[in-house]
Amino acid sequence: MSSSAPISETFTSVQGEGKLAGVPSWFVRFSGCNLRCTWCDTPYASWNAESKQRAMQSLIDEAAAAKHHNVSHAVITGGEPMMFAQAEELARSLKKIGMHITIETAGTIFREIACDLMSISPKLSNSTPQTDDPRDKDAVWQVRHEARRINLESLQKLIDTSPAHQLKFVVSSEQQLSEIETLLTHLRGWTPGDILLMPEGITVEALATRRWIVDECVRRGWRYCPRLHIELFGNKRGT
Ligand code: SF4
Repeated sequence: MSSSAPISETFTSVQGEGKLAGVPSWFVRFSGCNLRCTWCDTPYASWNAESKQRAMQSLIDEAAAAKHHNVSHAVITGGEPMMFAQAEELARSLKKIGMHITIETAGTIFREIACDLMSISPKLSNSTPQTDDPRDKDAVWQVRHEARRINLESLQKLIDTSPAHQLKFVVSSEQQLSEIETLLTHLRGWTPGDILLMPEGITVEALATRRWIVDECVRRGWRYCPRLHIELFGNKRGT
């Protein structure tokens, strides 16, 4: 295996979000994203992408070492990992060494990729950069982000081709629930248990004000998605 890819970080922790929250996992974060969410919690992989070029084999060796210590879940995340063809090669190789694979994607790009759980996080209108965002002075990303954030064809293919999936939405107000419901009317192959609502916020205090999200989940049979890593470690890299 000779290829390499821009990687912003690798680390071992517990999965903080989604159906596998709490599971010990080895994370690999691709650096680079085709979106610019206003509240992005990994700006070092999007707004200010930073990376080291890492050989695929070195990543596999690292994952194999994690597996040797009983961490057999791998999370391929970003940024947007589906931007990178190398993610396919990485996933194939991780499968060969027996890792359970989660892909974390915003769902705007489709790839045939080996995985056990496709974790799709479609971006709602609350993600679009504001007009006065100093990181986007000419509103270039505002326009680009808005045009790209929902790709129905890609979302459907990701659902159809994955053995298991979850659709995880970051919500900050009740207005976004109707946006989610409208989106879901255009998609097939999901059940209420695949829909996860996650509060926006990167502090424990902010997350604590989102109790209403629990009630909305109970009403619809959706899942409330905690941000375990924020509760355990705060908003820190490598967790
Ligand atoms: S899709 Fe993810 S990585 Fe990209 S800008 Fe949005 S939150 Fe950040």
